[in-house]
Amino acid sequence: MDGQTKFTYNAKIDAGRKPSGPVCLRQTAGRRQRNQGVQMAQTVTLIPGEGIGPEVAHAARRIIDASGAQIRWEEVSARAEMERRGQGYLAAEAITSVERNGYALKGPMATPIAEGPPSINVGLRKALDLYANLRPVKNLPGVKSRFEGVDLVIVRENTEDLYSGIEHEVVPGVVESLKIITEKASTRIARFAFEYARKTARKRVAAVHKANIMKQSDGLFLGCTRAVAREFGEIEYREVIVDNACMQLVLNPGQFDVLVMPNLYGDVVSDLCAGLVGGLGLVPSGNIGDKAALFEAVHGTAPDIAGKGIANPTALALSGVMMLRQMGETAAAARVQAAVEAVYREGRWVTRDLGGKATTAEFTEAVIGAMK
Ligand code: ATP
Repeated sequence: MDGQTKFTYNAKIDAGRKPSGPVCLRQTAGRRQRNQGVQMAQTVTLIPGEGIGPEVAHAARRIIDASGAQIRWEEVSARAEMERRGQGYLAAEAITSVERNGYALKGPMATPIAEGPPSINVGLRKALDLYANLRPVKNLPGVKSRFEGVDLVIVRENTEDLYSGIEHEVVPGVVESLKIITEKASTRIARFAFEYARKTARKRVAAVHKANIMKQSDGLFLGCTRAVAREFGEIEYREVIVDNACMQLVLNPGQFDVLVMPNLYGDVVSDLCAGLVGGLGLVPSGNIGDKAALFEAVHGTAPDIAGKGIANPTALALSGVMMLRQMGETAAAARVQAAVEAVYREGRWVTRDLGGKATTAEFTEAVIGAMK
């Protein structure tokens, strides 16, 4: 990654949207090399992850390689060796690899419930200051779902809120968990959401909050978002309390365009929105910072189906599409997107989560075959 050039979000990342202003704000390494007449591979960090992670990562890698994208993969583990002996948790090698390369594709990492070390997924985002979690939710043609025409984007703050993981036992039987909301992070995520809306010609931004109860913390988030909203007069701004937002989303998702929210609401609302378009096997995401971007599926490690060869790799493959767009590999991105859509339209090689019988390998072959 070029230390001189600020890593900036590429609006073309959101499939199928026509940006209204200048789009690619950062000259990627690959683009610089092509400008000089040489097409050289860009190195991308691949973190296979755990549970179904290695299965879907292997599939996504094969699909991306078949797209003609010039990528050299640097495979690393995000879990430090020490943790297996009960100490430490986040591999320094993973952080330095993503910092060096600027781009990463990652499978999910397991997080023990109610015990053990902090989440590696969250740790990576924080360590790399990947402050914006971008989750486009859109119907895939041919996938039956509760709603048609869903096309919204969740912008989730990625570095603070209850995910700060600051908890302690005040006295036996009483535990305190700190929700950290700062002016800096709230303003930064609000600005990201509005700039994203402007660049992708989206018309509306909704801030999701619970400031009627958490008057100070969510109140600060709202205050910062309102201040940023005033700078973007052409974009319609509204505020929705999180519980009402959930109901409105399942009643009429078409009323939403870009939704910006603190970390925890973003996590919950993302899974809800995945359900609107067919489930967790389909929804991609990008964690974007000023120096690097890490792309991963919204789903977790799915231990119930791990190792069975039946996981749906679509979410990670489409996260790869977001990554390719960000890297300036727009033709390869379009090829993968079109192939995935063709496979779903045909409906023959659909995995079990969507009612089909195909294995991960069969689906992957079908997508690769659709690119030929
Ligand atoms: P984690 O603790 O890592 O979050 P989880 O099982 O609690 O794991 P998810 O991994 O998000 O949460 O899975 C929720 C449900 O969705 C599970 O039943 C899982 O099998 C299913 N699922 C998630 N991802 C996929 C996928 N890629 N393909 C098929 N089913 C999936």
